[in-house]
Amino acid sequence: MESIKTQIYPNQQQKELIEKTFGCTRFIYNKCLEQQIKNHEQSQKFINKYGMCKWITGFKKEYEWLKEVENKPLQYSVFNLESAYKRFFREHKGFPNFKSKNGKQSYKTDVHIYVEKHWVKLPKMDKIRVFEKLPDIKPKQIIVSKDSGKYYISISFDKQREKIETSGEIGIDLGLKDFAIFSDGTKVKNHKFIKNSEKQLAKLQKRLSRTKKCSNRRKVAKLKVSRCYQKIRNQRQDFLHKLTTAIAKQYKYVAIENLSVSNMVKNHCLAKSISDVALGEFRRQLEYKLKWNGGELAVIGRFEPSSKTCSNCGFIKKDLKLSDRKWVCEKCGTSHDRDINAAKNILNFSHSPMERREGGVEICAIS
Ligand SMILES: [Zn+2]
Repeated sequence: MESIKTQIYPNQQQKELIEKTFGCTRFIYNKCLEQQIKNHEQSQKFINKYGMCKWITGFKKEYEWLKEVENKPLQYSVFNLESAYKRFFREHKGFPNFKSKNGKQSYKTDVHIYVEKHWVKLPKMDKIRVFEKLPDIKPKQIIVSKDSGKYYISISFDKQREKIETSGEIGIDLGLKDFAIFSDGTKVKNHKFIKNSEKQLAKLQKRLSRTKKCSNRRKVAKLKVSRCYQKIRNQRQDFLHKLTTAIAKQYKYVAIENLSVSNMVKNHCLAKSISDVALGEFRRQLEYKLKWNGGELAVIGRFEPSSKTCSNCGFIKKDLKLSDRKWVCEKCGTSHDRDINAAKNILNFSHSPMERREGGVEICAIS
């Protein structure tokens, strides 16, 4: 199964029902946990999820308001509790915790759901607007969640999907100044607004570090930092989705470098962590979008002197400095742009039979 996570924009009425469902699933989870603990004290066995589902019926008689929300999320909530217990029993992970309304909120459902291009339909609700254009899929499960005041859905679905005919291949070098450099010479700039938000984030974090612990000002500063993170996340997702969709629509075969090696550049800590997330997300999106269209993503798994090798004849220019943006091959006379040459090498390298045999190239495609 594949999944997509994206932001949704519920209206006031929808928000209220979503919040109510968060509350009810949390209530059921905690009630059942309480009951399990009580049972245990009276030395009775653990009651499994089906047993707990029967408890839900009982709770509904006692607490009428539980009937206002859909039943499925309540069932999933006890399924989660059972999984938490299993982890505790089998893997000796911590004892299940009571859920707090301050923690991350979410619920799962799988009936009466469907998606359209820009909409998602959930039970008991009109259609909800979705941030990105959704593919033509039949959802199996939907998880609704809330983070920093924003609402999200994660849709799981089967892979089967109509394919777009694509052809051609491209190598992509990922960088910091330019976000991506293509082997055909295209350069994709890092967006300026992301840079601006990063600057703002650094400022807000500095302000936060100056506030006293447990003070009101700290709370406010914390919220501002988390809103700013959110803004960066949204801008980045928007940018990445547009880019990866365009690539996956045009090419059948894409080669990139393994991200942990491509991003070895020394950098300011914050900017680096943000760029790491962006690169990871870029790969994730590109991989699933290529697979949708029946394409392939080749990931080069180890470091290669990709900027020093001539992509035309294989000559290695050992004395190439980091400051040399352009150079001419001594052997074949080809003039190179450093980054474009690197992207060409990534593509060439990904086709190397020896590297493929020895696991130097990871191919991600639908099996
Ligand atoms: Zn050459």
